[in-house]
Amino acid sequence: MISIRGLTKRFDATTVLNAIDLDIADGERVVIIGPSGTGKSTLLRCLNFLDRPQSGQIRIGDLHVNAEKATKADILSLQRSTAFVFQNYALFANKTAKENIMEALVTVQKIPEAEAEQRALSVLAETGLSDKADSYPTSLSGGQQQRVGIGRAMALQSDLMLFDEPTSALDPEWVSEVLDLMRRVAERKQTMLIVTHEMQFAKEIADRVVFMDEGRIVESAPPDELFGAPKDERLKSFLRRIN
Ligand code: ADP
Ligand code: MG
Repeated sequence: MISIRGLTKRFDATTVLNAIDLDIADGERVVIIGPSGTGKSTLLRCLNFLDRPQSGQIRIGDLHVNAEKATKADILSLQRSTAFVFQNYALFANKTAKENIMEALVTVQKIPEAEAEQRALSVLAETGLSDKADSYPTSLSGGQQQRVGIGRAMALQSDLMLFDEPTSALDPEWVSEVLDLMRRVAERKQTMLIVTHEMQFAKEIADRVVFMDEGRIVESAPPDELFGAPKDERLKSFLRRIN
């Protein structure tokens, strides 16, 4: 169980997240949609303190972090309970696919090198990239790089996987292989919080879709309901713009 209460983030005088409340059940897949600049990335980044929220509570299983009083140990625990998939892959250019997957296992999770390597190889097999284990990011296609990015997050076996527009930076030809891999991750009952503009994918994969606008959650409902019978005018107008 994941529970977020009153999560607030300001950059200088601008409030980007305005007291966000959100609950996510174990194994639930929640998709966040909304206009650009509305705080979707910031919400994901605040959940593992890539951005530090000014206030609010984050509860992931037994871990309970109060943003105002978060200690280094709290932040490390949060970062161990979450795994982030970035829009631009954020792979280390000087490390191979296998080493990219091993990195956080060794440095953050303190898993012995040999075990981390085994886990990396097994994830590479699951992502269909066994033959790319020793390849560097520049020799991989965008789709392959993002599959490594997702594999790196899978290897962490964390409570919550955060995806920030994982297909937005891809050439169209690579989108489907990345979405296919995300479907496979979903089949394992992995709890997922996904920001995406792929509405068809959202309809298919989401248990619940959350519409954000100007730093607030405006509407939250199962996909049939949210897309089929939107209530708030801002959501209606957003859906008209993207269709
Ligand atoms: P979204 O992902 O929905 O497009 P973001 O979370 O990236 O929106 O950004 C929300 C707002 O916060 C935007 O107005 C953006 O300019 C601002 N913002 C994001 N990151 C920073 C930062 N590091 N410093 C200052 N402003 C930021
Ligand atoms: Mg964003």
